[in-house]
Amino acid sequence: MANTEDETETVCRVCGFDGEAFWEGGWPNEAAICPCCGNEPDVGDASVMSLRNYRGYSVGHGAPWLSPSEERKRQGWDLLTQREDIPLQWR
Ligand SMILES: [Zn+2]
Repeated sequence: MANTEDETETVCRVCGFDGEAFWEGGWPNEAAICPCCGNEPDVGDASVMSLRNYRGYSVGHGAPWLSPSEERKRQGWDLLTQREDIPLQWR
């Protein structure tokens, strides 16, 4: 697996959405928020335990998008397909 210490993570650890620099060099980007699941770096995803809780909560509510306008850009979006992009260590 890639070493997250010196890499930018653009894939949401919770839902697999790809498109924001959520973590940079091992530090959370506090300006980033996932338009899909609404996770904020270091809030919902600081540990595998917490992000699994957050993921379960989101899915339990029907996995609504935080940003409906972002959702509309992705015709045929599928949560399960997107989640395949979540790095192994965050599943
Ligand atoms: Zn997300």
